[in-house]
Amino acid sequence: MNRDTVCIHGGYTPENGEPRNIPIVQSTTFRYATGEAMGALFDLEASGYFYTRLQNPTNDRVAAKITQLEGGTAGMLTSSGQAANFYAVFNIASCGDHVVASSTIYGGTFNLFAVTMKRMGIDFTFVSPDCSDDELAAAFRPNTKAVFGESVANPALSVLDIERFAKAAHDHGVPLIIDNTFPTPVHCRPFEFGADIVTHSTTKYMDGHANAVGGAIVDSGKFDWTKYPDKFPGLCTPDESYHGVTYTERFGLAGAFITKATAQLMRDFGSIPSPQNAYYLNIGLETLSLRMARHCANALAVAKYLKNHPKVAWVRHPSLEGDPDYALAQKYMPEGCCGVVSFGVKGGRAAASKFMAGLELASIATHVADAKTCVLHPASTTHRQMSDAELEAAGVSPDLVRFSVGIEDVEDILADVEKALAAV
Ligand code: PLP
Repeated sequence: MNRDTVCIHGGYTPENGEPRNIPIVQSTTFRYATGEAMGALFDLEASGYFYTRLQNPTNDRVAAKITQLEGGTAGMLTSSGQAANFYAVFNIASCGDHVVASSTIYGGTFNLFAVTMKRMGIDFTFVSPDCSDDELAAAFRPNTKAVFGESVANPALSVLDIERFAKAAHDHGVPLIIDNTFPTPVHCRPFEFGADIVTHSTTKYMDGHANAVGGAIVDSGKFDWTKYPDKFPGLCTPDESYHGVTYTERFGLAGAFITKATAQLMRDFGSIPSPQNAYYLNIGLETLSLRMARHCANALAVAKYLKNHPKVAWVRHPSLEGDPDYALAQKYMPEGCCGVVSFGVKGGRAAASKFMAGLELASIATHVADAKTCVLHPASTTHRQMSDAELEAAGVSPDLVRFSVGIEDVEDILADVEKALAAV
C-alpha cells in the first residue's frame, strides 16, 4: 500500500462480517476460561489482551497504522506527546545516565528533560541544531544513552539535520530519537535518514481536529542494542520485574524496545489513551495526507504574503525560499514541512498584540497544528511574565507571532491577516 492508502487502511483488516471501522473496545478487562491461559499472557509467552492499561485492541490497531506510516517494526500509543517523549527516553536512560538533545525543542519537552528528568538523575546536554560536528561530538559522555531532536522544532521552526545527528549518535553507540510531530510521516520519514526511534504528539496534525490529546512511539527495529549490552542492560539482561524476560532475546531487535516500554513503563506509569481517543485519532489519520498537503500549501502562501508586507519585520517557514533551513527542508521534507509560520510585526510587542486583536477568523489559542487557523503571541500570553531581554534569551523575540495555518480557504486566511495588519 502506498502512503495515502495506509492512512485509510493501515493497521486493521476486518475479517468476514467484522466492523469496517476500527471497533472501539471500551473494556478495561478481557475474559479467559482458565487461570493458566491468562498466566501465559502475564509471562509474555502468549499474545493477547488482559488489561487495557497494558494493551487494548483499538489502541494497538491505531498504533500499527502509525508504525506502518513511519516504516517501523513496532509502535505504541500513549496518552500524550509528553508521555511518549518521557517513555522513549526513560526506556533506555535512567538515574546516572546522560542524553544529548537539540536546544530548539518544544518548551514542554525542554522542561521535562531539564527539570523533571534531571530530578530523576538523568543529565541532559543541549546543543544547537546548527552546532559544528566537533561541538556535537564534544557533547557525548561515556554514560550517554541517546540523542534527541525534533524534525521541525516547535516553535523555533528549525529543521534538524537528521543524517548528521544520526551519524554522531551511531558513532557513539547510541540511538537517535526524533520527535516527528510537525511534518508527520506523511512528509518526513526519519527512519529513512538513520533515526532509530520516532515519537509524536498525535494531539497535533495526526488527530488534526483538536479532539484528543495523545502520543505515539515507533521503533525502526534497526538499532542493535545487543552490540552494547553494558550500555543498555534493560534491554539485554533479564528484567526481574517481568519474570526474568530478556527483551532482545525474546522479541528480537524488531520488538524489544516497544515490548519493554509497554511491559515495564506502561505497566508502572499507566499513561494509556482511552480507546475512544484512539478511535478519534484514527479518524484524523484517515485524512492526514490530504490535510497536510493543504496545511503546507496554505502556510507557504501565508509566508510568501507576509514576506512582502511592509509591516512585517521577518518571516520563518522552512519551506519558504530564503529561509535559513530551506535546504534542509528540501532534503528531508520536500513536499512541505508543516502549517506553522512564525513572523515579527514591525513595532515589537505592542504591534504584535494589536495584530492579534485585529484577527477574526484565526482564534487565539495555545494549540498548534489543527484544521482551524490559530495564533499565539508568546510575549503577551505564555511568556507574558518575561521582560524583552528575557524573551530574547529564550529565543522568543517580543514581536514573534506563531501562526498555525489551518485548512480553510487560503483567500479567507490572507484576508484576515491583511485586515489585522492594516489595523496595526
Ligand atoms: N512534541 C512537540 C513537538 C509538541 O509540539 C508538543 C506539544 O505542543 C509535544 C511534544 C507535547 O505533546 P502533548 O501536548 O500531546 O503532550
